[in-house]
Amino acid sequence: MHLAQTDLTRAAAEALDDADPLAGFRDRFAGVEDGLLYLDGNSLGRMPRDTPAALARVAEQEWGRGLVGSWASWIDVGTRVGDVIGTGVLGARPGEVLMANTTTVDLYELVVAAADARPGRDVLVCCADDFPTDRYVVAGIAAARGMTVREVPADVDEGLDPADLAAALDERVAVVVLSAVAYRSGALADVPAVTAAARDAGALVVWDLSHAAGAVELDLAANGVDLAVGCTYKYLNGGPGAPAFLYVRGELQESLRQPIWGWFGQRDQFAMGPVYDPVPGIGRFATGTPPVLAAAAVEVGARLVAEAGIDRLAAKGRALTGLLVDLADAHLAPHGVALASPRDAARRGSHVTLAHPHAWQLTQALVDRGVVPDFRTPDRVRLGPAPLYTRFVDVWDAVDRFRLLLEDGGWAAYPEERAPVT
Ligand SMILES: *Cc1c(COP(=O)(O)O)cnc(C)c1O
Repeated sequence: MHLAQTDLTRAAAEALDDADPLAGFRDRFAGVEDGLLYLDGNSLGRMPRDTPAALARVAEQEWGRGLVGSWASWIDVGTRVGDVIGTGVLGARPGEVLMANTTTVDLYELVVAAADARPGRDVLVCCADDFPTDRYVVAGIAAARGMTVREVPADVDEGLDPADLAAALDERVAVVVLSAVAYRSGALADVPAVTAAARDAGALVVWDLSHAAGAVELDLAANGVDLAVGCTYKYLNGGPGAPAFLYVRGELQESLRQPIWGWFGQRDQFAMGPVYDPVPGIGRFATGTPPVLAAAAVEVGARLVAEAGIDRLAAKGRALTGLLVDLADAHLAPHGVALASPRDAARRGSHVTLAHPHAWQLTQALVDRGVVPDFRTPDRVRLGPAPLYTRFVDVWDAVDRFRLLLEDGGWAAYPEERAPVT
């Protein structure tokens, strides 16, 4: 259970920062000196200070001077950076993670591969409140294959009820697609229990780790997870449009065939042979030429997360969001702001969502007052304190500005009409 912090003063928040073993990581990010209260690292993580030099090195030396000869070292960038993410962030074993494509494409690959591995089953299960791309990919695959989608309802604040999921599992289900951390509420699914329940029903789960990687302990190998995908530009700080990752449990790799038969998955790639014959390992999930420049930024971001340690990051994430919840209860709830995330820290990722009928206007006003959250439909302000660089005092100051805004009513001057990007 969540124990309310008794001392909610700014000095108490400063004391938490003084005792924070991760405090030193903040200075390894650009722009932290600007004073902006950036609580949107779960949408686009900050830029590590080492990233521009890493990009410049690949551009100027490897591309600029090495030219095509640099492919000797670039050719395995997907598996090399995949291992940094897999072993350093996800608790996977070497050779189980590939950096490639986008989350959307990786999800498509793995859901089709998993459905092919369950012949005779004609149902795909997903969560009705999951991130749009996940639901659309599932719907598209079902339409193309004549399968049926079974959408499990989920509480937008509390996440999926395991009993609802259990009720959706039967011998017709081939694949289950779920987010480990719900993008809207931050609700954390019980990854080992869901994986085991699906396996008992003969189905495979493809986990989307986009809001979980770098924020919570995943221990994919220890938890028996079979398949997963996720993005690298949120808590992994890989930069806008950074390539995604996919995970396939080692024991499963050779038995799965993914639907995009590209030359980067091919055995003896430069033999340019007549038929597709994929390599046995994780490399068979590769498609075409990897984004070498973008990979350099992903590697810097993932190494920082690995260095900080996912256990310490997750613990700090729970402490940051716990402070946020306590402060919101004390100072925002009296103004009609309701918690729209699980109250129990063990059931949350590293973001907290607050509901208010004028959430969109509040979001715009907060940005003008130096607090960056994001707006999520229908009426939510989402605040993501990234444990690598957000201080406890940032959370305190952000809630204080939120309180002042509710008191002075300055949000009412902002348009109700939603912008194209929120
Ligand atoms: C951010 C996110 C994505 C992003 O997909 P892209 O293909 O990288 O744009 C997908 N799914 C979830 C759950 C996300 O949070």
